Amino acid sequence: MKAPTPSPHADSASCPECGGAQTDGFSCWGLLGAVIAWEMHDAELQAEHFKIVASYNLQHPAQFHADALADLQAAYVEQIDLGLPASQIRKRIGGAYEGERRVLKDPAERQLVLRTWKMTIADIYAHGQAQGAAQRVRQWAASLRAEL
Ligand SMILES: [Zn+2]
Repeated sequence: MKAPTPSPHADSASCPECGGAQTDGFSCWGLLGAVIAWEMHDAELQAEHFKIVASYNLQHPAQFHADALADLQAAYVEQIDLGLPASQIRKRIGGAYEGERRVLKDPAERQLVLRTWKMTIADIYAHGQAQGAAQRVRQWAASLRAEL
């Protein structure tokens, strides 16, 4: 039997948790790091830091204990719907937002469940296109909010 001809996407896997494309050799975690690095040069993007991290975390929930995840989701909804300032969110939910150790499950306990979304961190990274990232983050948060 002849081996199938590789398609341009043959090596692009998708995330087992959010279903997002693993683009340019990055996992979702790597894509998140790349987008956060852009914040240094993009004040508009930096202003959306909570949305970036929280959206990522809500689409990768297996790492969190259930109560931390519930707190994060409640704060996220309030932020999107009512514009709760990030400083207040940080005070309220503390660790869940930054992924501190006490809110995280032991890696052995994590069970990845695939749930697909309209937009993921791969859409924010957009193959390394920093231009317009803040606008994409706002679209991501709005679509994610509607899918919760
Ligand atoms: Zn993912």
